[in-house]
Amino acid sequence: MTTATPAVRRATKLTVVGTGLVGATAAYSIMARGLVSEIVLIDINHQRAEGEAMDLNHAAPFGRPVRVRAGDYPDAEGSDIIIVAAGAAQKAGQSRLSLAKTNVEIMRQIAPKLHEAAPEAVVLIISNPVDILTYAAQKTSGYPVPRVIGSGTLLDTARFRFELANRCSVAPSNIHAYIIGEHGDTEVPVWSLANIAGMRLKDYCPICGRGCTDDDLDQLFQKVKNAAYAVIERKGATYYAIALGVARLAEAILRDENAVLTVSTLLDDHYGIRDVCLSLPAIICREGIREVIPLKLTDQEAEALRRSAETLRKVLDSVGF
Ligand code: NAD
Repeated sequence: MTTATPAVRRATKLTVVGTGLVGATAAYSIMARGLVSEIVLIDINHQRAEGEAMDLNHAAPFGRPVRVRAGDYPDAEGSDIIIVAAGAAQKAGQSRLSLAKTNVEIMRQIAPKLHEAAPEAVVLIISNPVDILTYAAQKTSGYPVPRVIGSGTLLDTARFRFELANRCSVAPSNIHAYIIGEHGDTEVPVWSLANIAGMRLKDYCPICGRGCTDDDLDQLFQKVKNAAYAVIERKGATYYAIALGVARLAEAILRDENAVLTVSTLLDDHYGIRDVCLSLPAIICREGIREVIPLKLTDQEAEALRRSAETLRKVLDSVGF
């Protein structure tokens, strides 16, 4: 009897670069979901990464076993997913775009090292301004476009669904509505396609009976758009919601789900927009982005999206892309 050698299955591996509030909370969320069996934490402040690794390791008896360690770029070898949350964060009242110069410089240093260590990984960019940094990572790393994904308006879309869910008294998971464009001040709500149980929002209104005016809906969107400013003013940073969003994105990739999530990627002639990264709903699979979904927007929404792209293009020009 011949005994065939069983195929050796590698453990699923995550690397996080930048283990501040967002990076460490994302690692924690992914670990709590049991999505990976090995985590490498990299930070310019190595001690910080070490401390986070120790703290996460101490949770081992409470969940599924995960090996967590602080490391350097070569330790990212064999990663399935890499999360980049390194760099300066917004301070109270500061826009995301004002971080561009500093964080693009950091990305230029990080991205090629990640590709050298883990060319097969799917890379998730979280640092802000996320659309600019996604573009910088795509241009400087060597990864194919579908495997560099910006978290983009993943969080804004979640905030939009949360606010609509509260207003309409329907669970957020049953609200289908997207924020597209820049993750920032020029983002665009797609009101024309927002729906509950397949019904357009306007058609659902009589069922809810609350009787919202256009002004009410605009105020709801302003709350979504300015949510980060509001949280940062109160507690200095946002990290729980984005961390769970990133965990959801990692899950969709690792489980090859073909899930639809709004993420930032390089657009190639959608709505006349090209050579800019911004968010649209996209199908997420094991290889990263399988397809960007070209939503049927109203003329007004498409125009707002083009304005968002123009704002991002100007920032890209200013940082040498
Ligand atoms: P933080 O200051 O807590 O953490 C940043 C970490 O990056 C620090 O630990 C720092 O030492 C590290 N770092 C700096 N330069 C580095 C380098 N060259 N190499 C490796 N590590 C480096 O900030 P945070 O609150 O965790 O935010 C991180 C980023 O995520 C910010 O840019 C923030 O704006 C962004 N963010 C994005 C979203 C989103 O929706 N995309 C949401 C929240 C925050």
